[in-house]
Amino acid sequence: MDCIFCKIANGEIPSTKVYEDDKILAFKDLDPQAPVHILIIPKEHIKWAYDVNSENCAVIAHIFSKIPEIARSQGLENGFRIVNNCGESAGQTVHHIHFHLMGGRDFGWPAG
Ligand code: AMP
Ligand code: ZN
Repeated sequence: MDCIFCKIANGEIPSTKVYEDDKILAFKDLDPQAPVHILIIPKEHIKWAYDVNSENCAVIAHIFSKIPEIARSQGLENGFRIVNNCGESAGQTVHHIHFHLMGGRDFGWPAG
């Protein structure tokens, strides 16, 4: 499968890693939209949030269990935003599920 985030997960494409274990990887976004902009992915290919189910949701829970540690490691004491874009209308451009962890500035709400 020609998936850029699978290639990042297996090391074929380089990334600036900020956290890694056997199940997930967090790395810096190439085109940051905030002073801190990290992408967190499962190493297993899940296309998008529509494909999360009772069989594969443990890895998504695992991502969320590591978010506090990753956010603290990036100095985000004042809070952060987690974003998942699912599908075309939401602006998903890479079809391997990922969570944007963004911080270091204030954000408006509702988002765009
Ligand atoms: P989305 O639009 O939610 O699918 O987000 C995809 C994100 O991946 C964008 O913020 C891109 O800047 C980022 N991105 C694409 N290719 C790479 C890469 N090779 N390394 C790091 N970030 C990337
Ligand atoms: Zn993939």
